[in-house]
Order: sequence, then structure tokens, then C-alpha cells
Amino acid sequence: ASDRPVAIVTGGNRGLGFETVRQLAERDFRVVLTARHASKGEVACERLQAQGLNVVFHCLDVTQADSVGELGAFVQANCGRVDALINNAGVFLDGHGVSDTTGSSVFSTSIDTLRTSFETNLYGPLRLAQELVPLMRKQGRGRIVNVSSGMGQLAEMDGFWPAYRMSKTALNALTRILAAETFGQGILVNSVCPGWVRTDMGGPNAERTPEQAAAGIVWAATLPDDGPTGGFFRDGEPIGW
Ligand code: NDP
Repeated sequence: ASDRPVAIVTGGNRGLGFETVRQLAERDFRVVLTARHASKGEVACERLQAQGLNVVFHCLDVTQADSVGELGAFVQANCGRVDALINNAGVFLDGHGVSDTTGSSVFSTSIDTLRTSFETNLYGPLRLAQELVPLMRKQGRGRIVNVSSGMGQLAEMDGFWPAYRMSKTALNALTRILAAETFGQGILVNSVCPGWVRTDMGGPNAERTPEQAAAGIVWAATLPDDGPTGGFFRDGEPIGW
């Protein structure tokens, strides 16, 4: 039905994004599954549609302003509303994996690695907020979930993976700033750490399943009107950064 709430998930073709799309659709959202490569996104979308879920695909590369603008136009024309924005798309470009404690050092990281990390993990979520918050303001309602990381917690800083850490710490700062600027407007903006998850990024040794991790994202996407804003959460519990 057209009065169904609408959710937009970035990087929805695999990993945590795909599972978040599935769980939101099971909760009766109409979900726009977005992915930067149309072929991958369409296959993912068809898998969920085959399970009877209300999911549509739209192409979105979060690093491209034109692409974000096209998504905004698509949402306006086809959905007319946006209840939840899940900024999930992310890259982890330092080192070879989360379990590789040698990681990369701040003394050897390249500015290009930093730039690409910030383009995707920080400017992407910012571009999407700039595009979609006007619609949320018009509705007087909205939820934004920035999928961050424990590596964005400076209090637990132990070095390594500087580009990823800096981009996720900056994403947590963006969460606070967006929350302050939308305060009292019915819009709740929070960061979520999914924990260490078995995806292509997390690798096979990670301790959590995408199902467990996505539940914490869905929690933040479905907060009641008097829910928190500007926070950082893991499994619905506040954590520091
Ligand atoms: P994956 O590497 O499995 O998936 C990443 C997703 O992001 C893919 O769909 C990828 O698309 C997409 N993506 C990357 N760049 C862009 C872009 N420019 N535009 C659109 N989409 C893009 O990662 P996870 O599912 O594990 O991670 C999801 C989120 O969770 C990330 O933000 C990550 O930082 C965070 N996270 C993950 C943890 C883990 O242990 N797995 C731990 C903490 C945080 P494509 O398929 O085209 O590459």
C-alpha cells in the first residue's frame, strides 16, 4: 500500500546492507535497495522480491553527487516520502582485514586512501542527508542511521587502519551535527556499530552474523518519536566514542 513507510538503504547488494533491506521489508517497509552497480543490485533485489518482499532497486554511487540527486528525484516521484535513510555503504581500504593487526600505519597511508575513505564513508552519508532531509522536514518525521564502527571510538584507540578510523570518527561527528540541526523536527539521527560481522568486509572469523548485526540497525531505523538522537549505539545500547 502507498501509505507504507519507505526506507532507503545504501550498499544494499551484499553484506549488512542486504540483510538490513530484508529485515526492514519484513517489518512492512517499502525498501529502496540501492547499489552502485546496477547488475549486482538488480540480482539482490530480485532475490528478495522472490521471497515476496516489497523491495525496489535504484542505482546509487554515494560518491557521485549526480547519482545522489537522481536517487532523490526517484524517491520524490515514486515514493513521495522517506521514513528511514540507512547510510550503510562503506569501504575499509587500510590493511587486508580486520583480523590483520599489522594493519596499515598512519606513517605509510596515502592521502588517496584517506580521500576515497572519506568520499564513501563520510561525504556519502552527508550528501544523502542533504538530499533527503528536506523531504523528512516536510513530513515532520524521519530516521537516519549512520552505520559506523567501534573503530570510530577514539577512547579505545589502539592505532592502525587510520583512514577507516578517521572516516568513521568523522561520521560519528556528522551524526551529532545532523542531530543538532534537526532537533525538534521529528528527525532522529544516530550512529550504529554493528559489531564484528561475517561479511566480505568482516571476513569469515568475525563473531557475529549479519542477521544479529542488522537488528541493531533496524532498531535505530524504527525508533519511536521520543527516541534518542545524536547517539552511538550497539544492539540498542549507548556506547561512547
Ligand atoms: P561489505 O564490504 O560486505 O559491503 C559494503 C557495501 O558497500 C557493498 O554493497 C558495496 O558495494 C557498498 N559500497 C562501497 N562503496 C560504495 C559506493 N561508493 N556507493 C555505493 N555503495 C558502495 O561490508 P559490510 O556489509 O560488512 O559493511 C557495511 C557497513 O558496516 C560499512 O559501513 C562498514 O564500515 C560497517 N561495518 C562493518 C563491520 C564488519 O565487521 N563487517 C564492522 C563495523 C562496521 P559493491 O558491492 O559495489 O562493492
